[in-house]
Amino acid sequence: MPKYMYECENCHAVHATHHSMAESREKEKCEKCEKGILFKKLSNISFSVDKQQYSETRPGAIVDSTILDLHDELQSEKEKLKNNLWKEEGLENE
Ligand SMILES: [Zn+2]
Repeated sequence: MPKYMYECENCHAVHATHHSMAESREKEKCEKCEKGILFKKLSNISFSVDKQQYSETRPGAIVDSTILDLHDELQSEKEKLKNNLWKEEGLENE
């Protein structure tokens, strides 16, 4: 089955999912934030990369960059939360 990537328009969480070409998860509600709706990302990289190209690329490089993207996102979310907490504490002390 082909693999599809969907991104949440609200929290930008990426949902990788397998389904047939006839199906679509577009416009479905995001499972992470339960607010945004999903839209299809252009991916299918794993299907379009031919074998010669792939041997020159470090295996897993595509996957790694995806994980790094998600990690960065997570970090910035954590920072935001931290800053919010500090702000609240700061207000109490004033
Ligand atoms: Zn979301």
